[in-house]
Amino acid sequence: MILVIRPDATLAQIEHVIETVKELGYTPHVSRGESRTIVGVIGDETKTSPENLKAIPGVEQVLPILKPFKLASREFHKEESIVYVGKVRIGGGSLAMIAGPCAVESYEVMDTVAKYVKAGGANILRGGAFKPRTSPYAFQGKGEDGLKLLREIGDKYDMPVVTEVMDPRQVELICGYADMLQVGARNMQNFDLLKEIGRARKPVLLKRGMSATVKDLLMSAEYVLSEGNKDVVLCERGVRSFEDSTRNMLDLSAVPNVKGQSHLPIIVDPSHATGRPDLIPAMCRASVAAGADGVHVEVHNCPEKALSDGPQALLPHQFLDLMTDLRRLATAMNREFAVPSAN
Ligand code: PEP
Ligand code: MN
Repeated sequence: MILVIRPDATLAQIEHVIETVKELGYTPHVSRGESRTIVGVIGDETKTSPENLKAIPGVEQVLPILKPFKLASREFHKEESIVYVGKVRIGGGSLAMIAGPCAVESYEVMDTVAKYVKAGGANILRGGAFKPRTSPYAFQGKGEDGLKLLREIGDKYDMPVVTEVMDPRQVELICGYADMLQVGARNMQNFDLLKEIGRARKPVLLKRGMSATVKDLLMSAEYVLSEGNKDVVLCERGVRSFEDSTRNMLDLSAVPNVKGQSHLPIIVDPSHATGRPDLIPAMCRASVAAGADGVHVEVHNCPEKALSDGPQALLPHQFLDLMTDLRRLATAMNREFAVPSAN
């Protein structure tokens, strides 16, 4: 870290800063300029919080050198991480297409949607069995029955399945059925959940919170990684903004922004980001063009009867057209949608 000393700091204050740095177990390197003094602090940055150093009288600014998310950072791990969901490879040029209805509703809907998305080239099937709804009176999901259905249909179409976990107490149950655990936007900073998921042996789809910065997202990934689970895929799904013609505002710059700072794969969810089927295909194409490691979309065969997020669902034929475009785009970018392989 580097401590920038206030221009009006007294010599006694500067001496006190140096002594405190030593007491904390660091080696201070003082550099006195004509008008400003800075103190380089050499040692393990993670041992002291920058706020404590900022509280020393005479210190104006504390500039950390390392990122606060160590395990998630490129500094720690230079190569891109590759995450396997079942036999589907995400990262390193291999793209995920996660598709399915918002919620697991019935055998018929799950079966119909899975049949179409599989035919279109989706490689991971989604469906929520535990739904985080704004209203307690809205459909809350089918719970364990939904998990069973999702597993059954996933097996039928030979697709790994991802579903949302909202509470640490659900982790064990959901691990018994799902191939990937989704942490939704509303739970991105549910730290007990992140820790529990970090101890699970399943890959994680970590969605960006509605008002979370990219740094917040990476800090949440750090929670999972620090518990030993290395298989984290990040997901940009838009943030709340003043714009009210879309459900959220899609921050596509998050893709190269995350990639510059982290080795973790990142995918984009234009369904929840825009909430509008007329915008979703263009944003999927833009996501692949921006370098995302995959896309996540909601598909329903009868959106008007969907029990959640119907208005944003793509119809099966829209999904098929989208995949045709995305495959061409992926090829042009020297990437491809993963086909399940024998690892
Ligand atoms: C979902 O995937 O259905 C969902 C609730 O997403 P988000 O957490 O991004 O709102
Ligand atoms: Mn949804």
